[in-house]
Amino acid sequence: MALVVQKYGGTSVADAEKIKNVAKRIAATRAKGKEVVVVVSAMGGTTDELIKLAYSVAEKPSDRELDLLLSTGEVVTSTLLAMALEEMGLEAISLSGAQAGIRTDAAYSRARIQRVDPERVVAELDKGNIVIVAGFQGVTDEMDITTLGRGGSDTTAVALAASLGAESCQIYTDVEGVFTADPRLVPEARKLNEIGYEEMLELATYGAKVVHPRAVELGELFEIPILVASSFSDSPGTLIHGGAAMEVRNKVRGIAHDLDVAKITVVGVPDRPGIAAAIFEPLAKANISIDTIVQNASIDNITDLTFTVAKSQLDKAMNVVKPIAQSIGARECLSAAGLGKVSIIGTGMQNTPGFAARMFSALSEQKINIQLIATSEIRITCIIDEAKVGDAVKALHRAFELEIEE
Ligand code: ASP
Ligand code: MG
Repeated sequence: MALVVQKYGGTSVADAEKIKNVAKRIAATRAKGKEVVVVVSAMGGTTDELIKLAYSVAEKPSDRELDLLLSTGEVVTSTLLAMALEEMGLEAISLSGAQAGIRTDAAYSRARIQRVDPERVVAELDKGNIVIVAGFQGVTDEMDITTLGRGGSDTTAVALAASLGAESCQIYTDVEGVFTADPRLVPEARKLNEIGYEEMLELATYGAKVVHPRAVELGELFEIPILVASSFSDSPGTLIHGGAAMEVRNKVRGIAHDLDVAKITVVGVPDRPGIAAAIFEPLAKANISIDTIVQNASIDNITDLTFTVAKSQLDKAMNVVKPIAQSIGARECLSAAGLGKVSIIGTGMQNTPGFAARMFSALSEQKINIQLIATSEIRITCIIDEAKVGDAVKALHRAFELEIEE
């Protein structure tokens, strides 16, 4: 029997009515003769509430306790959904991530899945059960409960789909699929029927919230087609798969934006080997992830080094960088929040001139100043003033004619 993995996000299971609605959708899939494994998120808002609760009893809750606490959100949803299915006369069982064999490393709050031991899930499927798995969590070899990082249920779903050999992984959410840009910013934004893994990975990494980048990465690695669709409608959604990336179209596929950007500039850095390492190694050790890095051409062997971090990490990063800047003889260390990132993404950009020029002139027509530029083979990213991000996304959508069906 063909197996599908379905994942329902927090807004899709936000209250009892919505959980019953999800149960009906699962029943319909089952009625088509499919075996079904379901992964759920915590009911909308629950994870945030649990975090708040933790910080109301402790200034710095311990990582282990925080992860065990947060894992309960998904357990609540999975049990309620199993009950709703049983109420409809279907056979269902809920499993925590640990029970479902999601084995992770011990990096609390950002654990990585090392393997999936699928025996229990397979045994329950063989008994005829619909298996509901609590997303976002796993267990270490020491039997401690971990979580995978915010939005981690998508990753659980794709990992399970890969280990069970599912025919597809369906991610149900509150939007109709992947759009050419955020439709809240650009009303003409168009839903994509399909997209390649590579393009989706860049879109998700650079700000599209619809599916977690780690899930896309796993999908690509194990060649699992991922459908992103709404749990509130029957529209067909967006299929993320390998085939789409093969057809190179001379076109931008989509625009991502991210408002969570701050930058740090180390001014007057001596230009000699080892300096970048001296700055970035301690940042890595402090678990601060760095995004765009730009080093200016040096004048008289002195240069400036600028990089971006998430706003929430700015203070921590400055505390790490300031003493280093002093010890390597840099002049000063400046920081700025209030930035945003806009990116154009498409495999059709590879080896094709003109995309950067078109992007920059679209931004300049809006009088938007570009502070930093970064590129990959299929992406160009500009760091700009946060307040201009909306205008930038609209202008780029127009400039690359993304409202026109390909
Ligand atoms: N409940 C977790 C979060 O809010 C995980 C998830 O929804 O995927 O981040
Ligand atoms: Mg979520």
